[in-house]
Amino acid sequence: MIINIPENSDFSIHNIPFGIFSTQDRSKRVGIAIGEHILDLVAVHELGVFDFDAAVLHRNDLNDFIGLGKTVTSNVRTKIQGWLQDDDSVLAGKPELFIKQSEAQMHMPVCVGDYTDFYSSIEHATNVGKMFRDPENALLPNWKHIPVGYHGRASSIVVSGEPITRPKGQTIPKDATQPIFGPSQRLDFELEMGFVVGKNTKMGESVSTKEAENYIFGLVLFNDWSARDIQKWEYVPLGPFLAKNFASSISPWIVTLDALEPFRVAGPAQEPKVLPYLEYEGEKNYDIHLEVAINDSTVCHSNFRYMYWNMAQQLAHHTVNGCNVHIGDMMASGTISGKDENSYGSMLELAWMGTKPVQLKDGTERKFINDGDTVTMRGYGQKGDIRVGFGEVSTKVLPAT
Ligand code: CA
Repeated sequence: MIINIPENSDFSIHNIPFGIFSTQDRSKRVGIAIGEHILDLVAVHELGVFDFDAAVLHRNDLNDFIGLGKTVTSNVRTKIQGWLQDDDSVLAGKPELFIKQSEAQMHMPVCVGDYTDFYSSIEHATNVGKMFRDPENALLPNWKHIPVGYHGRASSIVVSGEPITRPKGQTIPKDATQPIFGPSQRLDFELEMGFVVGKNTKMGESVSTKEAENYIFGLVLFNDWSARDIQKWEYVPLGPFLAKNFASSISPWIVTLDALEPFRVAGPAQEPKVLPYLEYEGEKNYDIHLEVAINDSTVCHSNFRYMYWNMAQQLAHHTVNGCNVHIGDMMASGTISGKDENSYGSMLELAWMGTKPVQLKDGTERKFINDGDTVTMRGYGQKGDIRVGFGEVSTKVLPAT
């Protein structure tokens, strides 16, 4: 191996994720995470080893690189994987190609044109249905027939490390008839994964579940910040608006579908049977451990494999009406909760609407997220010796202004 990779690193030789970084003397550009380092792809290109235009690597985002198509980008990944393991390769003896992650700044990996948020975990939808509506009929009649989703706000997606500000808005106090205005008292995280669209479609075209993976470049960790008190007052009849669009945070490295291949698993049985355009073949879920910490206390362990609706079904549904998608579009899973109480992917569920406060290591408790708290999500797949991780999305909450 050309570079030392610590044991249990998320960024093992099996991963090779893409991101956008800069340092004091290197402008924004495409890099690959390996162990505790970043491989500078612009510098690798200067060795004359690639036959695509270097300009796509000198960008503020990965969109143009992704636009080269999977034939090219998958090949770049495989070549780098080979060269890193070959002590006589073109990368050998060139320490200037590698930068310590601790000395680089990470940026938004893609320019997100459109952001869609699904609601695809049956455990989460059931829990929220019980709390907000009716314990006896927690799931609405359409839920098992449609991968329910809504159009979110792309402008407020930020990368890990960037703090967010507590939102203000309208809420309705218990038993009141008039709303009040002020900082949200129920700021929450939502543990999600987001996939990045890797190929454009034209208006009028649809993507089948069979083709869907050709349109998915890779995945990131996704914290879909939510203000529960604002949500409760505003969401009928048109769904989420200001309770959701003030911020979403993502991890900086896009882990490709190629890298996640070892972690494929079957999804849950879907009963009743779905309509033909949502039927799929093969294993479309992924076994990715997920966890959430508030400051240094881990409060949730979940898994991406719990998703009722998979990404292929989400994309097929999204485009079945002819809605077009573009490279860089972000599609988030919806909160990923499991069956166990410690696998719930939001404070709303973990503390059950404030009735069961969550204890932190420092002796304090939380019903929701306080000013000054840092929420960190981590995720990785592990199969035998193969580990492929996402690093983290870590975000500090600042007081309302
Ligand atoms: Ca969400």
